[in-house]
Amino acid sequence: MTNFEVRAYDAAGRLGDLEVPRAGVTVQTPTILPVVNPHVQTVDPSALESEFGAEILITNSYILHGSEDLREPALERGLHDLLDFSGAIMTDSGSFQLAEYGDIDVTTEEILRFQYDIGSDIGTPVDIPTPPDVERERAESELATTQDRLGRAAEVDTGEMLVSAPVQGSTYPDLRERAARDATSTGLDVFPLGAVVPLMNEYRYADLADVVAACKRGLGETGPVHLFGAGHPMMFAMAAALGCDLFDSAAYALYARDDRYLTVRGTELLDDLEQFPCQCPICTDHTPAELRSMADETREDLLARHNLHVTYGEIRTVRQAIRSGNLMELVDSRARGHPTMLDGYRALLSHAEQLERTDPVSKDAFFYTSAESARRPEVLRHHERLDRFDLDADSVLLTEGGSNDRYDETWGVVPPFGPYPRDLAETYPLTAEVPDRTDRAAYEAAADGVARLVGLHPDVEFTLVHDDWPATALETVPDGVRLRDLHARD
Ligand SMILES: [Zn+2]
Repeated sequence: MTNFEVRAYDAAGRLGDLEVPRAGVTVQTPTILPVVNPHVQTVDPSALESEFGAEILITNSYILHGSEDLREPALERGLHDLLDFSGAIMTDSGSFQLAEYGDIDVTTEEILRFQYDIGSDIGTPVDIPTPPDVERERAESELATTQDRLGRAAEVDTGEMLVSAPVQGSTYPDLRERAARDATSTGLDVFPLGAVVPLMNEYRYADLADVVAACKRGLGETGPVHLFGAGHPMMFAMAAALGCDLFDSAAYALYARDDRYLTVRGTELLDDLEQFPCQCPICTDHTPAELRSMADETREDLLARHNLHVTYGEIRTVRQAIRSGNLMELVDSRARGHPTMLDGYRALLSHAEQLERTDPVSKDAFFYTSAESARRPEVLRHHERLDRFDLDADSVLLTEGGSNDRYDETWGVVPPFGPYPRDLAETYPLTAEVPDRTDRAAYEAAADGVARLVGLHPDVEFTLVHDDWPATALETVPDGVRLRDLHARD
């Protein structure tokens, strides 16, 4: 795959360049594709470009295909002229309509050719969006149909237009993984993870994390990954940390229509707000009361613009976090917005091993900001690499205090990482900032590290000098290890 280049990683999150040859543009990722309804434009595509910096948007080719007034103009003038947008334009097929209404009347070949004819830059075949929790048999048979269509899509001559290969498989991790592997083998260009909207609508962020992680196992590092239908800024950081590069949002417009106000911590109702908790131009220039007194159309327009400011603001925040190497701290902080987001974050951490593979070995700082930090990829990596250190000694002191000549060797110990050779004390991630009043999880993770080291060296005599570790952590330390409290008197 040559059209997508990763410039930097943090966890599985990536800063990338997506080259869209037909549009002649390179799109920076992660990014959001605002959904533009060809019939009703809440915010003009030209304004999306000039005011919000949109480099790419998505519109529905199936609606255009079936529209009496727009089909011909789209074919004659092309999408970029019709929508007045010079960036990249991705088109969806009728798959969403298929999921909603159960029937559509175009084939993959027809709709791809139509997308090509109207000047789309990234086209989409008609896949079958299998909802969560269906019987396995149904998920498998619909997946077979989707795979067949991807195969046919790869045969259609689409010139410079990129073509996406949606990944289905319902909530079955093994099907998702296999579907993802098959999708990459088609040689198509962009990988949307399909039918995840029901999970997001039901706040099932833990299930979403498992689905994304399964898809990523199959996709590897090939091509940009599009979380189809993900438009709420509160989950961008989490999805990015799992390796999603593209999001799309109709939320900015749909929510505005219902007087709903997006924030990075969730959604507020305009009626409930006395102050706007936001610094965007809309919220700086107006009060909630003013907005409520406005005509419907004006209010909807202003709310949609606020929603877009928050959405693009969070995309920039995520990008900078990847660049700075503190994406996991951002995920941690966003996870506090809603208990289901925290659940999603905890599910993400159960895939720490997967995230570790692309996580940079060295970053500026590790901030221990919650008990969940003890499960981050860096801690796991430290434990897994304990076997790389030589330990040629009969007696070893593991201590949070100073060294002692009575032992052949002295290692440091630090929560949440556990034991480490002392000459590594000033290296990442052992330089982590951990609060003085830290939590049990940090000690328990350190004790896991001790257990791992002891397991690697069954013949060595270990003594652990700890600074008041809780019993739950000390229970994990193997029986043969002598324990002393740092401040206990001999
Ligand atoms: Zn605002």
